[in-house]
This record gives sequence, C-alpha cells and structure tokens, in this order.
Amino acid sequence: MSAEKTIPATLIPGDGIGPEIMDAVTEILDAVGAPFAWDKQLAGMAAVDATGNPLPPQTIDSIRRTGLALKSPLTTPVGGGFKSINVTLRQEFGLYANLRPTRTFVPGGRFDKIDLVLVRENLEGYYAAMESYIPVGDDPHGIATGAGYNSRAECNRIVRFAFEYAVKHGRKKVTLVHKANILKLLTGLFLEEGRKVAKEYEGRVECNERIVDACAMQLVIDPWQYDVIVTTNLFGDILSDLTAGLVGGLGMAPGANIGEKAAVFEAVHGSAPDIAGKDLANPLALLLAANMMLEHVGRDDLSTRIESGIRSVITKPELLTRDLGGKSGTREFTAALKQHL
Ligand code: NAD
Repeated sequence: MSAEKTIPATLIPGDGIGPEIMDAVTEILDAVGAPFAWDKQLAGMAAVDATGNPLPPQTIDSIRRTGLALKSPLTTPVGGGFKSINVTLRQEFGLYANLRPTRTFVPGGRFDKIDLVLVRENLEGYYAAMESYIPVGDDPHGIATGAGYNSRAECNRIVRFAFEYAVKHGRKKVTLVHKANILKLLTGLFLEEGRKVAKEYEGRVECNERIVDACAMQLVIDPWQYDVIVTTNLFGDILSDLTAGLVGGLGMAPGANIGEKAAVFEAVHGSAPDIAGKDLANPLALLLAANMMLEHVGRDDLSTRIESGIRSVITKPELLTRDLGGKSGTREFTAALKQHL
C-alpha cells in the first residue's frame, strides 16, 4: 500500500455535521493510504463567518487547480439570503452530470439487493429558477411564476453520459425518465435526444422509457427492474431521494457532480443542523462519495477495501449510528469501521 499523497484535491469541511463527518472520512481514507493531498478550503456558512463570502475566490481557484473536490454539505438559507453554493459550484465548473448510485448495504430489509444508478441533469430544467411574481389586486405576490429550459445539446450530453457509464460499468439497461405527455416541449426535447442517443448504443445497452410519476411508483413496488436511470434536473433530485430512502435513507446516499474539467463528490444529505455537533451523524454517505472519488482517479483497489469494511461492520447493528438503528456515535462508529478495513 502506498501512502504517498500525490493527487491534489480540494477538501471542503462544510457546515452543520459537515466537519464531523469529514473528519471521520479523512480518518478512514488515511487508514487505507488514499493518495489525496488535501487543499482545505471554506464554503457555505463557515466561509461567510470567516470571510463574509459564502464562496470565496480561493475556494474556486483551488477547485480549478485540482479539478477534484470532496465537499461536506453546506447550509443554504431558505427563501432568501445567498444563492445555493451547490448550484453555483455546478454552474461555475459546468458539473453537468449528477451521479447518484443506490445500493443496499444493510441486508435483509424490505428492499434487499438493490443496485441502481440515477443520472440527473444538473444545470438546466426548472433549477434554472427563472422565477417572478405577478401582482394580483393589492397583493404584489398574487401569482408566482417559474420557468425552466432544456437545451438539445445538454439533453444529448446527459443521456450520452448515462449510456457511456452503462458501457463502462457493465450495466445492461438505461431508462429515460420524463414527463413528455404534459411538458411536451421541455421534457419532450429530452426524450427526443434520449431516443436518438439510445439508437447509437443499440445491441450494447437496452433502453426503455418511463413517465416520472409511474417511475416513482415502480421504484417503490419493484425497484429491481431499474439499472441506470437518466432524467432531467428536478425529477432527478426528487427520485434520487426516493431511491436513497429504499436503502436506509440519506445517511447512505452518495453523489458525484461531474463536468469536463472538474468533479465534486458529496453526500446527498444536507448539513443536518438538528444533530450538528452531537456526534450523532452517520459519515457513510460522505465516505461512499469519497469511494466514488477514489474510483474516479482509478484507485478501485482502495474503494473496494473500504466497501468491504463497510459491508462487514454493517452486519453488526449495534456498531452503527442511530439513523441505521445502532447505538454508536460518529467517532465510535469510525473507530469500529477502522477495525474492519
Ligand atoms: P438534511 O439532509 O440536512 O436533514 C434531513 C434529516 O436527515 C434530518 O433529520 C437530519 O438529522 C437527517 N440526516 C441528514 N444527514 C444525516 C446523517 N449523515 N446522519 C444522520 N442523520 C442525517 O436536510 P435539511 O434539514 O432539509 O437541510 C439542512 C440544510 O442543508 C439546509 O440549509 C439545506 O439547504 C442544506 N442542504 C445542503 C445540501 C448540500 O450541501 N449538498 C444538500 C441538501 C440540503
């Protein structure tokens, strides 16, 4: 095992439970000799407190230099304040593909042996958030409007990403998820490009289509029928929380935001202010994201080792954190996991 830190990578400890789970994750990465030379940078509320800016230029410069970041959740003020840093980062670095794998780690539950991947378009759709109010009578906010857009080029790129992912990872089927029966143009364009791309992969990767509401129901009734799902921004955001729920909730859900020049790895969950600083957080989602990052840089050997550690510790329920039904705190769980690597 080489413990040389040869790959520069940005590390963002984040807000709320962020620093606690990041400490746990770097401890595990160090224990297996992961090659990342961390450049620690601030973002979110932690950056506001330290510099007055939720996304300081040093943080952006660092990611531009390394092209690789592991990021803890950041707190976003609801309904006002600064724009989501997560959204800003995606736009700044063109992180067009949000990859969210869902696998069962806790065996024997209602949803055993799930192994699917959701690919979400990350830059367009309704998350372009082109919102405004129209006054009605003396109510200036009588009507709220929101518009979105999908470009042909981006629809093509995201579906192609999903098919390439399927080819590279030996997956058999890609499902195009849309709402083209109602949003005939906005998601119709996605479906049109999706079908076009699917033709290029005929014979190698199977393709089918699902309307998003039917997909949501089927994910609960029979999730095993899915392999790779590709969909637009808003649908992907919602469905990926649903799929996380199938396998133990947000504490087990990692994600990667991938662009041509940079990739940012993170947990799907937020900064969990309700349990911050209490040594209660489950670090596994961020650890699984770190595993995706190891695979991204070709160190599948290390991610496999961490994954077997997780699979072995998870068979001892009392060692798990409380969200998974155990009794351990974050630190105690991390120490237990280290013993199982
Ligand atoms: P949340 O995901 O932070 O928390 C939802 C629930 O899940 C809470 O009860 C929380 O305690 C629990 N939970 C989340 N992660 C957990 C973990 N690792 N271990 C154990 N329990 C965990 O969602 P929220 O409360 O809606 O959002 C809180 C803040 O996080 C908001 O400011 C939101 O904008 C932000 N957020 C950030 C990201 C991100 O940075 N990628 C993602 C989602 C939300």
